[in-house]
Amino acid sequence: MTHIIAEPCIATKDTACVAVCPVDCIHPTKEEAGFETEQMLYIDPQVCIDCGLCVDECPVRAIFPDDELPEAYAVFIQRNADYFVR
Ligand code: SF4
Repeated sequence: MTHIIAEPCIATKDTACVAVCPVDCIHPTKEEAGFETEQMLYIDPQVCIDCGLCVDECPVRAIFPDDELPEAYAVFIQRNADYFVR
């Protein structure tokens, strides 16, 4: 299980989720290289502990538990994971 950031984050990148994540698994942060060029933020599925704290912080409701991810956003499961294997 992990949480997934989906399409509404694109061009939003609010980062309120980053501030509440207890294991710092949402990247890139504003301080990291790539924040300006990356389209959206991603959750590291190997580190996320599924606490759910980030879900209600997101102003555009872009974050879902993977088992509640709308089918239209299914591609974002791989897209989140891929960010961390570059
Ligand atoms: Fe971080 Fe919890 Fe959100 Fe996972 S569910 S990304 S651990 S805040």
